[in-house]
Amino acid sequence: MSISLMPLPYLLSLGAIYVCNGLLVYFAMKFYHSPASEGMRIREPTHKRAHPGRAHMRRNSIFSSVLTFGVPIVLYDQLFSASPIAGWVGATQILALLVIYDFLYYFLHRYILHGSLHRVHAVHHRARHPRANDSLFLHPVEIFLGVALWTACIGLIALFNPMHPVAFLIALLIYTVVNTVVHWGLDTGYLPYFDYVSRMHNTHHISMRSKNYASMSAFPDILFGTTETRTEAAVTAASN
Ligand SMILES: [Zn+2]
Ligand SMILES: [Zn+2]
Repeated sequence: MSISLMPLPYLLSLGAIYVCNGLLVYFAMKFYHSPASEGMRIREPTHKRAHPGRAHMRRNSIFSSVLTFGVPIVLYDQLFSASPIAGWVGATQILALLVIYDFLYYFLHRYILHGSLHRVHAVHHRARHPRANDSLFLHPVEIFLGVALWTACIGLIALFNPMHPVAFLIALLIYTVVNTVVHWGLDTGYLPYFDYVSRMHNTHHISMRSKNYASMSAFPDILFGTTETRTEAAVTAASN
């Protein structure tokens, strides 16, 4: 059996998405700690948190890169097809991947990461006042579960029609940007969707008992009645 790997232009694009996300994290951190973000920070840190350390972040970045590059490379034949498709089919694939992942991640987060694996997830929740680089601050088991879920969602779509690599790359770009934005700790006042998801996930980080389990949209929390309606002060008080 011959295995064809993901063609080089797509692999280079995958690498470019990771570089862009690294730059977004870097500049979001710079902005957060600059006077320009005054009035935009959702919550000012009230105490110093022991920084996870560059070595931890580096290890996590390497591990998640190996998984995210490795899976589409090794499973290229099973999940993808570069045969030409209509624009609307590609757009549907992008939307389907993001929506399916948003809902399945909600269940993983609510019932497993806040259930039997709460000790694993507690590593990420050590960031009570998340900033952009906390999007990388995860236990390796949580990184593995996230990539496995993302891959399973592509597999679900491939049951109907293998995903076009360009649609996959656009969905990945959107996902990585939103995942950084939900952690950047800013309410800019100019970007309504980004400001909403950033506030929503920021409240989730106050405590392991906060609601708002979805990360990309408000829909799963609204549908399953887990939108956090308490004020930030009330959630903080309940967590102490
Ligand atoms: Zn988070
Ligand atoms: Zn959580």
